[in-house]
Amino acid sequence: MFEREMMDFIDRSPVNFYAVRNVALMLDKAGFVRLNEGDVWHLQAGGRYYTTRNDSSLIAFRIPEGEACGFMMVSAHCDSPCFKVKENPESDVLGKYTRISVEGYGGMLMAPWFDRPVSVAGRAYVRTNSGLEMRLVNIDRDILMFPSLAIHMDRKANDGHEYKKNVDMVPLFGGECEKGALKRLVAESLEVEAQDIVSTDLFTYNRDKCRLWGANEEFLSGSRLDDLMCAYAGAKAFVDSDEAKNVQVLAIFDNEEVGSLTRQGACSTFMADVLKRVSALYGGDDAFRRMIANSLNVSADNAHAVHPNFPELTDPNNRCYLNGGVVIKKNASQKYASDAYSRALFIKVCEEAGVKYQCFENRPDMPGGSTLGNLLNYSVSVATVDVGLAQLAMHSPYETAGREDVDSLVEVLKQLYKMHIKNLGVTINVEFKDV
Ligand code: ZN
Repeated sequence: MFEREMMDFIDRSPVNFYAVRNVALMLDKAGFVRLNEGDVWHLQAGGRYYTTRNDSSLIAFRIPEGEACGFMMVSAHCDSPCFKVKENPESDVLGKYTRISVEGYGGMLMAPWFDRPVSVAGRAYVRTNSGLEMRLVNIDRDILMFPSLAIHMDRKANDGHEYKKNVDMVPLFGGECEKGALKRLVAESLEVEAQDIVSTDLFTYNRDKCRLWGANEEFLSGSRLDDLMCAYAGAKAFVDSDEAKNVQVLAIFDNEEVGSLTRQGACSTFMADVLKRVSALYGGDDAFRRMIANSLNVSADNAHAVHPNFPELTDPNNRCYLNGGVVIKKNASQKYASDAYSRALFIKVCEEAGVKYQCFENRPDMPGGSTLGNLLNYSVSVATVDVGLAQLAMHSPYETAGREDVDSLVEVLKQLYKMHIKNLGVTINVEFKDV
């Protein structure tokens, strides 16, 4: 039901800034009020708000009219591995080709970037009559390619190629081009003069759109499924929810793929800063601590499905499949923050929602990746469960997931937002309710 809307959301979100803008548009349409972190906030019971940081992370919250037990939070990330365009990017090859200098952003699979059209999107600060203005920019046409070396020039190409970022991963941009040619394309897209562009954050993106496929169209593939599937599902569930006896929170973070240690990443003060301002409504510091003790964060980030050609690479008993339902992740070293407590709460939510779930744990000799949940605990120490949707080809520019799973995640998160935790500090008397 929701998969086509999600695919459209992903196609319209070529980079982090666009994903945040598209979530903001969903919130605007639903009547949420945009707040600036630099202003005084006049929050009210029954109010619905959101704020952004660096235009690349977003936190939205819905305040109930009456009592609020705690925060019911969903967090996901909006950045994906790609290549960031350098300043002065054009470089000449023999006076016949122009290439663009880029630098890797995050841990990407490099091979799938070859031989497919690539474009550039991001943001630019532009000089205007009223001062500097931030503009989102998407060149939105095929301008780059990473061409493979022919098999005849590399007879060992199929025996395992070692990709060198400064040699292999330098995309072709054109024939002979003058310096500043890319900036001129950016300026054309923005309908400004090139000399008025003061600075930019530009990233490459794969031009292939999302599609459904398979014998029964049971699979969906697209760019940035990690983690725009969860960002979309979180936003959809959040916008479609009604008020409950908790403060509902949606957080979309940038920079997960590079460690989250930025001003707007999951390790930043962003979440704590916002939640403290909200809890001022209920009595300030003490209310904040009380509410945090009665809160749950669902950290939603995609998980590794069993690969059809390499099933032995996953744990034999705790493995997940496409269209197998929402994945709950667990890890002994707590890279995934789930524990018996947070899993119990989330399993109850799945049961209440009638949504199937599956368990994922890494094979013991494979450390796996990191995600948002445990990192967010640096600034806001809150009970956390790591979940996600099963997918193949994680960190490829074209990933694959299960069509049915989109609805499962939206439904379970809608149910989550209805629930509240009361007095969980006293664990002998756990009360976790649908309100
Ligand atoms: Zn991710």
